[in-house]
Amino acid sequence: MRNYESKSFEKFFFGSTRGVRRRGDLVKHQWVMRLLHYVRNDRGSIFQSSQRLLRSTRNDPLKKYAAVFLDRDGTINEEVGYLDSLDKLRLFENTAEAIRLINENGMKAVVITNQSGVARGYFTEDFVKTVHRQMQETLQERGAFLDGFYYCPHHPTEGIGSYLKVCPCRKPEPGMLITAAEELNIDLNRSYAVGDMLKDIEAANRVGAKGILVKTGYGLKAMETDLRRTPREYPPEEKGNPDTSEKLQPDYIAEDILDAVIWIMRDRNITKLR
Ligand SMILES: [Mg+2]
Repeated sequence: MRNYESKSFEKFFFGSTRGVRRRGDLVKHQWVMRLLHYVRNDRGSIFQSSQRLLRSTRNDPLKKYAAVFLDRDGTINEEVGYLDSLDKLRLFENTAEAIRLINENGMKAVVITNQSGVARGYFTEDFVKTVHRQMQETLQERGAFLDGFYYCPHHPTEGIGSYLKVCPCRKPEPGMLITAAEELNIDLNRSYAVGDMLKDIEAANRVGAKGILVKTGYGLKAMETDLRRTPREYPPEEKGNPDTSEKLQPDYIAEDILDAVIWIMRDRNITKLR
């Protein structure tokens, strides 16, 4: 009986019961079979298996992916100063939907975060990793997942031991974006960064990605103070690379992470049509 049903389904979806030949069909076929399995067994396993399937079809080493680099505190989760205990980790209401949208559109979703709390001795690198694991689990329960996590534990003036240093990874330096691009096959010129501070935008601009400022976290404050200042008014130590400080206007100012991602999807379509 079960066989008979499967054959009917194959015929209905693919017009043939003689196997599936193209890669796209194969993926569709696997999804349909998993859906059937769920309907028959009613055990709720479809979600986990569909997540695995989605991930397995997302890592083609020959392909260059566009990415959305996401700042963490104030963008994905509420800004709470230094996030030093797990119960302070609260995702914004729209976060899972935004990341799911990135997943479904074949882009990589990558967290890029300055965590100078490590340098300052407020928490350890292991704790940062625990926060990221917890974040990933919560998102997966809501049908979304993050392709990578990159953090900078250093600080140029405050810090203990080897954490006290001028590094190439602390935003606005673009080191984390460059590393992620190498490790995850990302095309930076087709990518975007979303964050609540101008240093997030600057890191993106330095590697040819577009930058979107969100109004959550420190976003409103950044709009009121930093955006109104001309590049000449920036004190030298904040100015960074003078060539890029001229272009520090975000490509878009979004209400929150979901608004930002919806803008990105529209922008990609416009770019494709050109
Ligand atoms: Mg932030």
